[in-house]
Amino acid sequence: MAKLANKVAVVTGASKGIGAAIAKRLAADGASVVVNYSSSKEGADKVVAAIVKAGGKAIAVGANVANEAEIKTLFDETKKAYGKVDILVNNAGIYGFSPIDAVTSEDFLKQHGLNVLGLLLTSKAAAAHFPETGGSIINIGSVVSTIAPPASSIYSSTKGAVDVITKVLAKELGPRKIRVNSINPGFVRTEGTHTAGLAGGDFEKSAVAHTPLGRVGLPEDIADPVAFLASEDARWITGELISVAGGSTGV
Ligand code: NAP
Repeated sequence: MAKLANKVAVVTGASKGIGAAIAKRLAADGASVVVNYSSSKEGADKVVAAIVKAGGKAIAVGANVANEAEIKTLFDETKKAYGKVDILVNNAGIYGFSPIDAVTSEDFLKQHGLNVLGLLLTSKAAAAHFPETGGSIINIGSVVSTIAPPASSIYSSTKGAVDVITKVLAKELGPRKIRVNSINPGFVRTEGTHTAGLAGGDFEKSAVAHTPLGRVGLPEDIADPVAFLASEDARWITGELISVAGGSTGV
C-alpha cells in the first residue's frame, strides 16, 4: 500500500517552488493534497492538474496564511473536501536580504508575519483538526538559521524562530501523538530564488562552492525527506531539525 494512503495533507505555498514539489510527492505517495496558494491560482491549478494526471488527488485552496481568518478558510475547505487533515507542511515563506542600514519595520513585520506568525497560527489550526490518532507537522526552515549569512538578519531570524517553534511544539503536541519536525534546506533553485535574483548568479555560485555535494538544490531534493517525515517510517522522530543542503556550510 502507498505510504500515505488515506492521509490528507495541507501544503502551504504550493503553487510553485519547493511547495509544489512537496505537494506532488505527497500525492504520489497516496495522500489527498490541499495545494494552498496566495496569489498564483494558475500555478496552483497546474500543480493540481499534474497530480490528477498522475492518478493522485488534490484541490487548490487560496488563502493568505499570514491571516488567521484565511487560515480558518483553508482548513474549512480541507474538511469540506476530504473530511479530515493528518499532515501539515508549513512551506509558505518569503525571503529578503538587507544590510542593517537598510532594515525597515515594514520588511521585518512582513517576513515575520508570514514565516513565523503565519506558521504558528497555521499549526494551531491544524492541531485543532488532527484526529485523536495524531498527525505530523513539517516546517520548512532554512540552513540560514545556523549559517547566519551577512545581510540576512530579518530572514535568518524568522528561520531561527521556526527552529525553536519546532522544538517547543514537538514537546507540547507529543502527548497528542502529533510529531513536529523541520526540514532546513540549503540554496534551492525555485521561482522565488529566480525572482529574487539569487538563482543563476554569483549568489548561487558561492552557495555551490560551499556545498560538499557540489551542486545547487532542486525542489525534489527537499520534497523527498518531507515525504519521509510525513510517513509512518518517521513515527519515532519529533522535534528534529534536519538540514537538507548537500552538506552546505555557507552561501
Ligand atoms: P517561492 O518559489 O517564492 O514560492 C513561495 C510559495 O509560497 C508560493 O507558492 C507562494 O504562493 C506562497 N506564498 C507566499 N506568500 C504566501 C502567503 N501569505 N500565504 C500563502 N502562500 C504564500 O519560494 P521557495 O523558494 O519555494 O521557498 C519555499 C520555502 O522554502 C520558504 O519557506 C523558504 O523560506 C524556504 N527555503 C527556500 C530556500 C531556497 O533556496 N529556495 C532555501 C531555504 C528555505 P503565491 O505564488 O500564490 O503567492
